[in-house]
Amino acid sequence: MLPARRKTATLGALTGAQLIVSLALGIGLGRVAPEARVAIWSALAVGLIVSVATTALGLAWAQRELSRTLRSLVASVQSREPRPTLPEDTEIAGLAGSVHRMADELDTALRSLAAERDRFEAVLETMAPAVLALDRERCIATANRSARRLFALRDSWQGRPLLEQVRAPALHELLDRVAAGEPETAEFELPSPLRSVQARASRLADGGLVVVADDVTDIRRLERVRRDFVANVSHELRTPIAVIRANAETLLDGALEHPEAARRFVEALYRHADRLTRLIGDLLDISRIEAGKRVLSLEPLELSDLTTDVILTLEQDAKAKSISLHSEVDPGLYVMGDLKALEQVLVNLVDNAVKYTPAGGHVELSAARDGEQVRIEVRDDGPGIEPQHAKRIFERFYRVDSGRSREAGGTGLGLSIVKHLVEAMGGSVGVDPRSPRGSIFWVTVPLGDVPEDAESAA
Ligand code: ADP
Repeated sequence: MLPARRKTATLGALTGAQLIVSLALGIGLGRVAPEARVAIWSALAVGLIVSVATTALGLAWAQRELSRTLRSLVASVQSREPRPTLPEDTEIAGLAGSVHRMADELDTALRSLAAERDRFEAVLETMAPAVLALDRERCIATANRSARRLFALRDSWQGRPLLEQVRAPALHELLDRVAAGEPETAEFELPSPLRSVQARASRLADGGLVVVADDVTDIRRLERVRRDFVANVSHELRTPIAVIRANAETLLDGALEHPEAARRFVEALYRHADRLTRLIGDLLDISRIEAGKRVLSLEPLELSDLTTDVILTLEQDAKAKSISLHSEVDPGLYVMGDLKALEQVLVNLVDNAVKYTPAGGHVELSAARDGEQVRIEVRDDGPGIEPQHAKRIFERFYRVDSGRSREAGGTGLGLSIVKHLVEAMGGSVGVDPRSPRGSIFWVTVPLGDVPEDAESAA
């Protein structure tokens, strides 16, 4: 098939030849008879009309061919269909090749941009710091998962003003400062739930702002706990040391000469030295547990053996206060625990019960199976613990009545050691009020398998 351009040219050439012939004939018409001249003019007119019509038809056909080719080219580029087959040596084929190459390159560039964007979004979304991007009007353009959680963004946050979504004056002041080119970090608190946030902000070339924020609540809490702990330890150590020093001075200043008074001062020296020893022991214990250096070895333990030993250990103290002390644990009940740790737990709880129950009171130690756990209870009819203290008495150095605790030789660390040890054995600990008065301190520990030799003996 001839290309459209060439067909049009051929038609044009034919029409031109006809015109030249007609002109030549016209020149020679002067020598022809009038009747023949009319016939010739008629023939010439018909020839002219035919050639003009042929040319117009040829042009229309060529134009239709051209636009059909262009349309199929555009359609194939738009729909990413295979290229249409075009004659190779035409300008249209060249143009089509260029358009397709450009479309392919554009396609590759778009694909790699989309992959890049997906990667960027995935990284942004999984980043631990909260990232907020704001436009010039301080409306939220982007917020990753951490930012949505930290700033508790409400639904449809996208495009909403930050001021409307996050009520933290310090954050908005930070943005004002950064927009004015000033320092770019700030620490502030977000309300409900209360969070401490450390944020850095920077300005974008288009006038927008980016905020990168970290939730430092846990770090600040730990710092506070550490500060309080150091302050508490110094305070706890200072008191007995001051008493020991004062008593020693009094003895040296002459009390030694008076045996009665001297005995009292030496007894006080002993009591406070003893308290210091216990305090240092508890502190070492707690730091070893918290540092993971106290390794527990869990084994099946017959509970009644253990509770009998605990009662024996504290019998004298209870008797001295006329407190009745009993244990009621079925033989054959096994727990999975560490012997020393569980003994320390029970001694601590029974010792507290004896310490805080007034003379003439009652303390009972009991245990019963509760599903796959064993619940051990220490009941007393002492002063009890009010609900506002119940949540906190397992914290280090937390005391309901500091005076009474110190008077009773307490360090304020016993229950926090109990909690650590019980949790390390896979159990839990708590306190409930007892009716009509007193407390029930309870721990749960996993049920232990009855050893084979114990089974066959039974
Ligand atoms: P402490 O060495 O002061 O006894 P603990 O950690 O063992 O420290 O106990 C924390 C506080 O809990 C005590 O100071 C006391 O106020 C309170 N407490 C503990 N056991 C009892 C109890 N059985 N009855 C009343 N209060 C108790």
